[in-house]
Amino acid sequence: MVKCHYCEREAVVRLPYAKLNLCREHFAEYLLRKLERSVNRYKMFGKGSRVVVGVSGGKDSVTLTKLLSESGLAKMLVVHVNLAIGEYSRISVETVRRFSVEHGLDYLIVDLSEYGIGIPELVAKTKRSPCSVCGMVKRYVLNALTMDLGYDALATAHHGDDMAVYIVKSFLLQDYDQLYKISPVNYEVPGLAARKVKPLYEFYEFEVETFAKLYGLPFVSVKCPFKHVGWLESYVRELLDRAEEESPGFKVSLLRSHARRTMSMRSAEQAQPKACASCGLISSGTECSFCRFTRRALGQPMGLVVRRWIIGKAVAGETRQVSGDQPSSVG
Ligand code: SF4
Ligand code: ZN
Ligand code: ZN
Repeated sequence: MVKCHYCEREAVVRLPYAKLNLCREHFAEYLLRKLERSVNRYKMFGKGSRVVVGVSGGKDSVTLTKLLSESGLAKMLVVHVNLAIGEYSRISVETVRRFSVEHGLDYLIVDLSEYGIGIPELVAKTKRSPCSVCGMVKRYVLNALTMDLGYDALATAHHGDDMAVYIVKSFLLQDYDQLYKISPVNYEVPGLAARKVKPLYEFYEFEVETFAKLYGLPFVSVKCPFKHVGWLESYVRELLDRAEEESPGFKVSLLRSHARRTMSMRSAEQAQPKACASCGLISSGTECSFCRFTRRALGQPMGLVVRRWIIGKAVAGETRQVSGDQPSSVG
């Protein structure tokens, strides 16, 4: 039996980059400390901040939410965007609902089919890839919600394995605008864009998954039918996995160097932010990409419609919905 580094119990996980074998309890403690260090290292938000957490229902987002809630670092509102992708979305909504209720968390589900902007409907009206449409819609809704409900930051569950791949891929494509966006913190632009933080920036995917399983968190394991991984992404992932195997900790060094060099830089949108003529949120041109896209696909820009719905929910007190009788800090 391999023993835990800190106690007599059996180790259930090995962290090669830290040369540690840990039992279930010390693993959880280790991850909690790691989360707190990341939040402080990158000055993501101050203690007691009000943070919207974007939760898809996958292992990454439920682990982030559980760790944040255990840490007591923030007052959270769990937000799930129901993408209306058939059975996949039905399972995701149910998982987020169950997870939030089990953990006594305030949550809000934004149902895109209410506006006729479910991902399959949008994809049918464009030549863009489903994931790029989906990413743009989710980013818009979560930013609008964080702004309109007056939260301090928006947290998402991007982990280090994915971030490292996106960094190298963006560099190979010489997409510097994208490179600047891959950061543990994207600073707020007052009145236009929320502060965005990635508390799992230095976490490995295996840590996130092991935690979710060891603690029996409900998470969605079915794949989205639109999921597609391109050849370049697969190639870069394989390369980075081999580098990590040869030299444990390689990915975190890469992520830290990247953050040091790019955190003070701004994407084009952030460097010269404008207000979208249709919805008033951040844009690099006359209209933001969401309003431009929905105008083309549906004949009218939907930004303001989404924002009015969000504010309506807050006024009606529905952001405290469903997670019991405790009013949330919203509304
Ligand atoms: Fe959206 Fe693509 Fe993820 Fe499906 S796989 S949920 S379309 S980003
Ligand atoms: Zn132990
Ligand atoms: Zn807009």
